[in-house]
Amino acid sequence: MFDWKVLSDELEELKKTGLYTNIRTLESPQGEWLTISGKKVLNLCSNNYLGFADDQRLKKAAMEAIEKWGVGPGAVRTIAGTLSIHEETEKALADFKGAEAAMLVQSGFNANQAVIPPLFSKEDVIFSDELNHASIIDGCRLSGAQIIRWNHLDLDDLENKIKTNSARRRLIVTDGVFSMDGDVAPLDGIVKLGEKYGVMVMVDDAHGEGVLGPHGKGIVAQFKLEGKIDIDIGTMSKAFGVVGGYVAGNKVLIDYLKQKARPFLFSSAPTPPDVGAVLAAVQVLAQSDDLVKKLWDNSKYFKDHMKSIGFDIGHSQTPITPVMLYDAQVASNFSKKLFEEGIFAQSIGYPTVQKGKARIRVMISAVHTKKSLDFALEKFEKVGKTLGVLL
Ligand SMILES: *Cc1c(COP(=O)(O)O)cnc(C)c1O
Repeated sequence: MFDWKVLSDELEELKKTGLYTNIRTLESPQGEWLTISGKKVLNLCSNNYLGFADDQRLKKAAMEAIEKWGVGPGAVRTIAGTLSIHEETEKALADFKGAEAAMLVQSGFNANQAVIPPLFSKEDVIFSDELNHASIIDGCRLSGAQIIRWNHLDLDDLENKIKTNSARRRLIVTDGVFSMDGDVAPLDGIVKLGEKYGVMVMVDDAHGEGVLGPHGKGIVAQFKLEGKIDIDIGTMSKAFGVVGGYVAGNKVLIDYLKQKARPFLFSSAPTPPDVGAVLAAVQVLAQSDDLVKKLWDNSKYFKDHMKSIGFDIGHSQTPITPVMLYDAQVASNFSKKLFEEGIFAQSIGYPTVQKGKARIRVMISAVHTKKSLDFALEKFEKVGKTLGVLL
């Protein structure tokens, strides 16, 4: 038998260095306040930007979808056929993104596995921002293409790397919003380079949808680049509050992927309640952008106050607020102390962020009240002083 002690020793080492993640068990839905171990705590962790994970309208739509379509898709769509609610959702998501067509898969993670490997192979080159999400990195690796990393957000570096390369097929790929720092890709500049050198452009808008652009339509709408992006990856798991992923783009791309993408061919589609709820989310966003505005108001309020208290909150341009503590052990202690004070804000260290860049990532949501944000600010200040992070 395998000697599992090697692995348990490794886990012990993670615990010693503050890099072991203690996964909390929730006794309540994702929302502004949570119940954890019988204790009421303020939720500053989730990607549930607009509160959709527990929204009455989405819950109702999910239940109606179950009544009409049942709970499961039966098999992969190429074999068992596709439910019309999948097609309806794909059309709604494509419209939402200003794209011709879209294809659903099981998660945002899978969307990257679905799109990169069928389009790129050994002879090809992918230019990837050095801080791209793990699912993009894995999609690139799986394709077998040569991966050239460019310095984070650095268009000059990107251009130099494109210039000195002449592969058969080339791709520039970037996160829209970088999930750990909250900074935004210079998508207009990237598109210009794509046009200048004839390179395909792909953006993963997981943290931009529901957040950036009018009515939360995402980074492409924010930069007014509809029709100029080759591939737009989306997730239903963040602002949409559900779970699932999709690829949006032109009709040829989507038609091709439905024949070639392995997560589409070999794994079943999202369930009827998932897509039913997402349809409702798209409708809510189309009707009103009040929630998006509230999200930004809340973020500004929290970030301004954190800065004046004296915290280093990086250079986020979005509601993602990294409270930089650098040392993994300090970040882990900070999170534990906050929890004792009634705040759920998880510390994040390597490998999710680079070594020496540990932090607490605060996720602001439209469902936070000013009163709750004040409570959070008070507790952050208190713990910051106790741990000597603040003077
Ligand atoms: C969160 C995230 C994903 C994964 O999305 P899931 O739907 O949770 O699988 C993919 N890409 C980026 C950039 C992300 O931030």
